[in-house]
Parts: sequence; structure tokens; C-alpha cells
Amino acid sequence: MCIFCKIIEGEIPNKTVLENDNFLAFEDISPQAKIHVLIIPKVHIQSFNEMTPNIMAEMTSFIQEVALTLGVKSDGYRLITNIGQNGGQEVGHVHFHLLAGEQLGSIN
Ligand code: AMP
Repeated sequence: MCIFCKIIEGEIPNKTVLENDNFLAFEDISPQAKIHVLIIPKVHIQSFNEMTPNIMAEMTSFIQEVALTLGVKSDGYRLITNIGQNGGQEVGHVHFHLLAGEQLGSIN
């Protein structure tokens, strides 16, 4: 079982921000910004490459809800999903990083 599936199962503790039947948002263990939250589907999907339009549509609504819950929706935030080796993906369970809470640097 992958590390994020273990988090979903409660085998590894997490700091939950928001949860519903299909998705979980929790604090990244090694934050890269004042606010750094990971958003994952509860079903195991390797990466964005394997996402379906239906799951992505539901996840879009959930991510917007997470931004509202964190109070960052109007000030802004950054979403990142790393895909595969060249994308720097370390955990093989699709996740979106939500970074916020400060002026973020340029990604260029
Ligand atoms: P990525 O490099 O895009 O695969 O990102 C994986 C992220 O998972 C990194 O930002 C890690 O800090 C984070 N991470 C790994 N293990 C945990 C954990 N147990 N709880 C919270 N975040 C984690």
C-alpha cells in the first residue's frame, strides 16, 4: 500500500484540513510555503496521467472548497501536481500541492 493510501486508512497520522467521501486534504509534512496542503483522491491513482475527467471535475470542486476553508481563495494560491520522474513526483498517488499564505516566488 502506498504512503498516501496508508494516510487515508489512518495507518499514518495526518493533519486533516478537509475531507469528504472521495477526497482528503492534509498538511504537507515538509511545508514549502506558510500554507502547504496536499489534496488527494481516496481511490489510488498513480498520477495526473491516469486521472479521468469525472474525478478531475469532482476534485476541482473539492480543491475550491479547500481554498475557501483555508481562507486563501480571494488572496490567491498556487496548485502544482508533479507527474513522473522528470516532473519530480516522489509519491506515486496523484496529489495536488496547494501553496499559499504569502507572496510566492516566480516559478520561472
Ligand atoms: P511530490 O514530490 O510531488 O511527490 O510530493 C510529495 C509530497 O508529500 C512532499 O511534499 C512531501 O513532503 C509530502 N509527504 C511525504 N510524506 C508525507 C506525510 N506522511 N505526511 C504529509 N506529507 C507527506
